[in-house]
Amino acid sequence: MIHRLWFRLLIAFALVIAVTIGTVYLFVSRSMGAEIERYEEIRERFHIVETQAMLSAHYMTRGSWEGVQYVVGNRSVVSGTRIILTDFFRVVIADSKEELVVGETYQPEPPDRPTGSPFPVFSEDWEEVMVRLYIGPEPSAGEEATSPQTLREAINRFLLWGGLLAAAIALVLTFVLSRRMSSPIGALAATARRLGRGDLSQRVQLRDRGEVRELAQAFNSMAVDLERLEQLRRNLVADVAHELRTPLSNIQGYVEAIRDGVMKPDGATLDSLNEEAALLSRLVDELQELSLAEAGELKLVYQEEDVTELIRRAAVSWQPQVVAKGMSLSVDLPDKLPSVNIDWQRINQVLHNLLENAVAHTGKGGIITVAAAERGAWVEISVSDTGEGIPAQDLPNIFERFYRVDRSRARATGGSGLGLTITKRLVEAHGGKIEAQSKLGKGSRFSFTIPILS
Ligand code: ADP
Repeated sequence: MIHRLWFRLLIAFALVIAVTIGTVYLFVSRSMGAEIERYEEIRERFHIVETQAMLSAHYMTRGSWEGVQYVVGNRSVVSGTRIILTDFFRVVIADSKEELVVGETYQPEPPDRPTGSPFPVFSEDWEEVMVRLYIGPEPSAGEEATSPQTLREAINRFLLWGGLLAAAIALVLTFVLSRRMSSPIGALAATARRLGRGDLSQRVQLRDRGEVRELAQAFNSMAVDLERLEQLRRNLVADVAHELRTPLSNIQGYVEAIRDGVMKPDGATLDSLNEEAALLSRLVDELQELSLAEAGELKLVYQEEDVTELIRRAAVSWQPQVVAKGMSLSVDLPDKLPSVNIDWQRINQVLHNLLENAVAHTGKGGIITVAAAERGAWVEISVSDTGEGIPAQDLPNIFERFYRVDRSRARATGGSGLGLTITKRLVEAHGGKIEAQSKLGKGSRFSFTIPILS
């Protein structure tokens, strides 16, 4: 549990809450204590001065201390203090508590701090008499509640209980919130586990916003990619097996027929056998090339090349097949094209693959055009034909492995369905892009870009 995110959040929040409340508690209780003490000191001083003034007034009007017990008692009740009045030699004149005997000497016990120092009172004829006033706390049930100490204690108690209540509420809230915050992560982890077990259709459903949502989206798109890749892998294995099976069973058929004497091992039979073996060999070569390209391990030898020359040569080498099929091939090049930085063999292969497809999918009377033009930092080369075209629903898939629009016909032309996939990888290895446009029955145009020498 201690490694759970919600628990860690809870601990982190709890620490923050404890530190905050503790600091507030300490700060408030300290400063409140000091304030109360200061206030109490002022109040005490004021009380002494006021009592002194009252006693002075009493002595002046009476000319003696007669009746002073009443004054002292009254003040004591009002102020909640014990008041003892003595003469200079500490002989008791009055005691608000009436415990001390008038006329006896008072032995004050410390702490009677600011009180007890002598002060003068005057009689009617301004005769000065020095007296002492002792004022000390006189706790009684009602007054205790308001004494500074009790006030301080009460404040501390309120702070403590308030702090504990706030901490309890904050902890409950933290618990709920941290569970809520960590639950999407838990959901992600659970989905990741199911994905790991092989159920690639798993996706996370999160209504959260912000980073968690972004994480969920990234996770889902990763799951989509994984599922697609897994599907591609399965398809690849199935396709490779399927592609190998046909020529292999053909070869097997020929061999069995020869062994059983059904067929003669003459030139025609051997040619057919050779054709099937060549098909197999081409398929294996292309697969190997594709796997290298997909792993990014194609070793490209970049060189400065004249693209015009490259195109002209390719066109010349395809001329016989084009003529043989009753088609024409034209080359459309600008006067000047910059040199390109390419692996000559690989781009030649691209050009040949595209020309091979154009020748294979264009009928008698068709026109094939190879063109090139400068496009910013790139040279764009295109191979267009006026052939059968590609249905719109197949167009997005033609660069995928083993994808053939018409499987039965493609086999007849010897196509493995890997040509365009390899072509695309070769162009991409040069940093370029390849695109296909096509209209069914009208023709197709394949164009790719290669980098200009910088
Ligand atoms: P293949 O080796 O079978 O030709 P490719 O990968 O080269 O495989 O091409 C994939 C599919 O795209 C082909 O089977 C074909 O149906 C279609 N295709 C490619 N080029 C053309 C084109 N110029 N005209 C019509 N269809 C084409």
